Amino acid sequence: MARRICPQCGSRETAKILYGMPAWSPKLDEQINKGGIVLGGCCITRCDPVYRCNKCKKDFGAPTADLETDTTSFYFSLGGYFDGYQSVTVTKIDNGAVMIYTLGHAPESETIEKQLSADEWLSFIHSLYRCYITDWKKRYVDPHVLDGTQWELIVSFLNGKPLKIHGSNRYPIHWTKLLKTIKILGVSMR
Ligand SMILES: [Zn+2]
Repeated sequence: MARRICPQCGSRETAKILYGMPAWSPKLDEQINKGGIVLGGCCITRCDPVYRCNKCKKDFGAPTADLETDTTSFYFSLGGYFDGYQSVTVTKIDNGAVMIYTLGHAPESETIEKQLSADEWLSFIHSLYRCYITDWKKRYVDPHVLDGTQWELIVSFLNGKPLKIHGSNRYPIHWTKLLKTIKILGVSMR
């Protein structure tokens, strides 16, 4: 069983949390002993989150199916004053989504606009939450570097406040996974 990577500390020593009263089996016993499974006890309402880090002891990976349905837009910008600036916005529409990618500052900016099918939107959004963005900190800032690279991520919902995360010369554990997810849109940011 492939272990998930903890979004807080980057450890692969993570366990799946098994809720309820599982039927005992030698296999389950072995997985518990190896640290691949922890028992989460009785599950009364919603059984989230679903993974536990054996190293930093934090839980992560709560189910995001509801959030995926509720997501209306995605915005991500990356860059600095000197090394160029890129942004991508994906907005859900009736039968899919519209993506707008911009490179550079106006008026010399380059823009790519593309329509995504409903399936493409869903697979993008699903992949986005698999980066555990709901477990990220709100800011990743290196106070010792001025200028450099800044980034911002904003995810908006039909209900509730948007998720806003920003950074400056510091990045979350699942950063590369996020950049790979953006590649699904047909654009490359780095
Ligand atoms: Zn951890």
